[in-house]
Amino acid sequence: MFRTSNAIGFLAASILFILPSGGQDRQQRESIDLNALYKIKAAEFGSTVGNPKSKIEDIAYNLTDRYGPRLTNSPEFRQAADWVVQQLKDWGLANVHMERWATPPNRPLPSWHCTFLSASMVKPSYQPLIAVPEAWSPPTAGSITGSAMLFQIPHSTEELERLRGKLAGKMLLLGGPASGLALPEAPLANRFTGEELAGLAIELIPVKDPFPRPSEPPLSDEMEAKIEEWLNQDKPLAKFWSGVRLPWELPGAATNRYQGGTLVGPGFENASTANSRPTVILAAEHYNRIARLLARNVPVQLQAEIKTEVDETYKAESLNVIAEIPGVTKPTEVVMAGAHLDSWPYATGATDNAIGCAAAMEAMRILRDSHLRMDRTVRLALWGGEEQGMLGSRAYVKQHFADRVSMQLKPEHEKFSVYLNLDGGSGKVRGIYLRHNEMARPIFEDWFAALKDLTSGTISIRDMDNGVADHLAFDEVGLPAFFFLQDPLDSETRSHHTNMDTFDRIQLPDAEQMAVVLASFLYNAATRPDKLPRKELPAPKRADSGGR
Ligand SMILES: [Zn+2]
Repeated sequence: MFRTSNAIGFLAASILFILPSGGQDRQQRESIDLNALYKIKAAEFGSTVGNPKSKIEDIAYNLTDRYGPRLTNSPEFRQAADWVVQQLKDWGLANVHMERWATPPNRPLPSWHCTFLSASMVKPSYQPLIAVPEAWSPPTAGSITGSAMLFQIPHSTEELERLRGKLAGKMLLLGGPASGLALPEAPLANRFTGEELAGLAIELIPVKDPFPRPSEPPLSDEMEAKIEEWLNQDKPLAKFWSGVRLPWELPGAATNRYQGGTLVGPGFENASTANSRPTVILAAEHYNRIARLLARNVPVQLQAEIKTEVDETYKAESLNVIAEIPGVTKPTEVVMAGAHLDSWPYATGATDNAIGCAAAMEAMRILRDSHLRMDRTVRLALWGGEEQGMLGSRAYVKQHFADRVSMQLKPEHEKFSVYLNLDGGSGKVRGIYLRHNEMARPIFEDWFAALKDLTSGTISIRDMDNGVADHLAFDEVGLPAFFFLQDPLDSETRSHHTNMDTFDRIQLPDAEQMAVVLASFLYNAATRPDKLPRKELPAPKRADSGGR
């Protein structure tokens, strides 16, 4: 409702805006090297039919099927990073190395992975459950069985006292009562229509939300500490979340996302909270069956067993992988591309974000194999710790470019041109978000115009609609940084942070297109006379602000 009314409100204004700049006679401002573009495409698609050169499938296979989930610092994450380093070296890239960074003191990331899980309902009748252990969950003490109990976090001391002593030996259903699942009538996957892209190109003028949604009051620090202490005393056996209702979503919110055995894990920081009890995420339909039985006072017994391996020696640091193609005439000036190497552990992190890594690596391979001469250095970064709050990219930016709190700039800040981020899933590039950098618009218009057989190149003045991603680490210190606008495909129904984010959710032709678009943007940025234009430098922040 809110967004629809905005879009209608904008139609009139947008006609005035689009017409003058949309004419055919607009002068091209960027000089495009069409021979380089031909070489870039040939290095990916092959110069003759039936002779594809793409390595995307091979890269994606290794990052997903071969090494598996890449939860930051897990053994699989570290093995994948080793493989990436070797692969980039084999391709002849320069300066290939891992850059270590310290985890924030309040956010340790010990190496964790699950080595065994079983979860079932044993009473009133047996049912195996579709389940995953929550990231960084502690193990159970062997196979445990206990009574299920619907649980809602108490918001007052009185509520808490009413429950005291009642949780011992229980299997807690933390999502509360069953939540209705909307009939998923919308297609499971979609590409942007022309109309939707046109809508994304238009600025949204902020208006006050006429329908503010009620939200649960946040727990005070004191109450949170009390609950933690109480759970430690009462010792419930295990906690179960419904995979459809994320902890921060509204109770009872019906949704057609994540149904049919697809479950989504929490998307924020569990590693640093004192996650004192083993925690399992259940497919919504299975969670709901248990919750409905309990609502009718039918006793339910659940069984669970989680085995994990934890290595604390890794908790204080993690890594990013860096590689370069050195510039010829301005080697100290840098254009960058990046994607995050880490994933959630619920599947193999294929669309979030093995495919972004694969396309970014492939763009580097294309540029290298095309032997194109570039003035500036092109640098690739594959980040760790993105899913815990852009930890790897923020640490890198602080180390090399600027401190986002004090806004103290390092010498490399001035030498930097642009950062391009791939983290929008497996859908092909349909455009780019300007993140309000108006000055970059004519440049990207010309770069996309040369690629019009691959993408219409919608330019959205906005940033990605929701969430955070690694380009923000650069943007928040005043460096030009952009997020590609990609087709959503089945990201929000099947793949994003789910137990189904496997290689099967990857669309290889889309990923090949991503690699070619990225390679051509990197080439253009590395060879145009000037660095990309910047927004104003942000003001220094108070030390306690920002940071997620
Ligand atoms: Zn991601």
